[in-house]
Amino acid sequence: MKMVFLGPPGAGKGTLSSLASMRLGLPHISTGDLFREAVRRETRLGEKVKGIIAEGRLVPDDLTIALVRERLAQPDTASGWILDGFPRTIPQAEALQAVKPVDLVVDFDVGDEMILFRLTGRRVCGSCGKIYHVATMPPKTEGICDVCGKPLVIRPDDREAAIRTRLAAYREQTQPLVAWYGKRGLIASIDGSGSPETVYRLFSEALTRRVG
Ligand code: ADP
Ligand code: ZN
Repeated sequence: MKMVFLGPPGAGKGTLSSLASMRLGLPHISTGDLFREAVRRETRLGEKVKGIIAEGRLVPDDLTIALVRERLAQPDTASGWILDGFPRTIPQAEALQAVKPVDLVVDFDVGDEMILFRLTGRRVCGSCGKIYHVATMPPKTEGICDVCGKPLVIRPDDREAAIRTRLAAYREQTQPLVAWYGKRGLIASIDGSGSPETVYRLFSEALTRRVG
């Protein structure tokens, strides 16, 4: 099963991808995570994208498409994958469709107020990447990752100015993909405003409708 998770920042794509990846045994491929890892390891790609990401702008298509192409050539992707945060532009979707046509695109529908609430309260483990929320998914010990005991951090692009830029990028460049995939009969829109388990149930119902 080759799936794309689509939706605005803060829609819960990352959280849902982790759940779905564990439960379905498919690799979770997040371009945001791959870029952040490149930044952390100070690779050439990391140097190029660091400022762009911190401001909340989109990384150029050529860099992003090359990164995903390389990842999708790895052997663990043979029986499918969950792409989280890619494609985000029409050229990215065209490039993906040309090499690996997707089976299902899940569009997570979430209102603006919920998005802001989620992003401003989001904390992530600086080491393993696990996602928390100060109000709805706090760690057992404040500021510390339950899994690996390392400190939680606020992503640089979860500051308000960057959030606004990310939302604008989403509306202008990514939202048109809903219609683009819709025309190809691949879209399932689900309400992403509930708890992770609620959203997961809606997601698995959409998956069942798709695979029968
Ligand atoms: P979000 O919470 O906004 O969904 P992600 O972790 O998916 O965050 O992405 C973080 C940042 O990485 C984006 O704001 C953008 O700068 C960059 N990025 C991730 N995926 C893409 C993509 N497909 N195309 C361009 N830039 C991307
Ligand atoms: Zn951790």
